[in-house]
Amino acid sequence: MAIEPRAGILDIQPYKPGAADAPGVANPAKLSSNENALGCSLKAVKAFETAASRLHRYPDGGASRLRDAIAREEGIDADHIVCGTGSDEILQLLGRAYLNPGDKVVQSQYGFLVYRLVAMQSCARLVSAPERGYTTDVDAVIAAAGDDTRIVFIANPNNPTGTYISDAEIRRLRDALPPTTLLVIDAAYTEFVDAEDYDSGMALARERDDVIVTRTFSKIHGLAGLRLGWGYGSKAIIDVLNRVRGPFNVNLPAIEAGAAAIADRDFMQRSAQHNATWVDFLRQQIGGLGLEVTPSVCNFVLVHFPQTAGKTAADADAFLTRNGLIVRGVAPYGLPDALRITVGKEADNRRLVDALTEFMGQ
Ligand SMILES: *Cc1c(COP(=O)(O)O)cnc(C)c1O
Repeated sequence: MAIEPRAGILDIQPYKPGAADAPGVANPAKLSSNENALGCSLKAVKAFETAASRLHRYPDGGASRLRDAIAREEGIDADHIVCGTGSDEILQLLGRAYLNPGDKVVQSQYGFLVYRLVAMQSCARLVSAPERGYTTDVDAVIAAAGDDTRIVFIANPNNPTGTYISDAEIRRLRDALPPTTLLVIDAAYTEFVDAEDYDSGMALARERDDVIVTRTFSKIHGLAGLRLGWGYGSKAIIDVLNRVRGPFNVNLPAIEAGAAAIADRDFMQRSAQHNATWVDFLRQQIGGLGLEVTPSVCNFVLVHFPQTAGKTAADADAFLTRNGLIVRGVAPYGLPDALRITVGKEADNRRLVDALTEFMGQ
């Protein structure tokens, strides 16, 4: 008899990361995983290298040095922070700690795929609230949530759409949800957003004990390979997550490099600036080809292709790959006609636009 996993586990489709190579093309541009075009902080690299001499030591299980560094930079209390192996782990821990089989979880229609995985691992029911204009519709989320929802996941701004909702809208959502519903605000791209009416949700999480904000070192800090993220919430929530995480979930080099990265304001600023310039460039240039580009406040754009034979998203994906440009198909999100393209280095962005120009003109 076969060894059976828990109910529902075999229904899970494993997460498929963005492609990393283009067969037969040397030095392709990887624009498929929303990585940082500028790499990462050299101070983080140095801290990582220095940590190499201590690899035989266990890390500090509480990641105090890192939490202190985050607390200092963010102006928050280190006791309200939990660190994880990517913000992905924080999302997983939330599912492990708060979801019972059969519980309802609500996300927005094109919500980040990890929310589905988290729900399925706990045999929870995932309900998706329809979006308007590829943007979270708070009224739809409220309607979907009803009074029996355990967790609402909102990425603000969202991946793969790149859109955001205002602080007022997030607050309206929180006010409308029952006190028994945990609102998870995934702010992975928050540092890229430069909009007056936007907030990361950190202020709300400080005010209320039914909100947690997740943050990552993978995007603005460019440390995706390090696997480092954190959550900010009430002491009660942080206490719960500390009970279900592994005792040494964040490794020693990650603690050191992360602490250096979050203090490197200069690198963060340069990253945000580079992104602001080139996300505009991509939107204008690609829009100029007659393709619809969803307005993005992130480090990527969602580009919509026609269904005309030869001009579809799948055709464009294949064409770009042949030309050494790796982008992300988003069919698993229910967006078969779109591609998600990460902002790259200047040369890669120009190469991408040139290739798409050729593709549309042929
Ligand atoms: C990239 C991303 C994350 C970050 O994941 P990590 O596990 O921290 O690398 C979280 N949420 C969204 C919506 C993302 O796009």
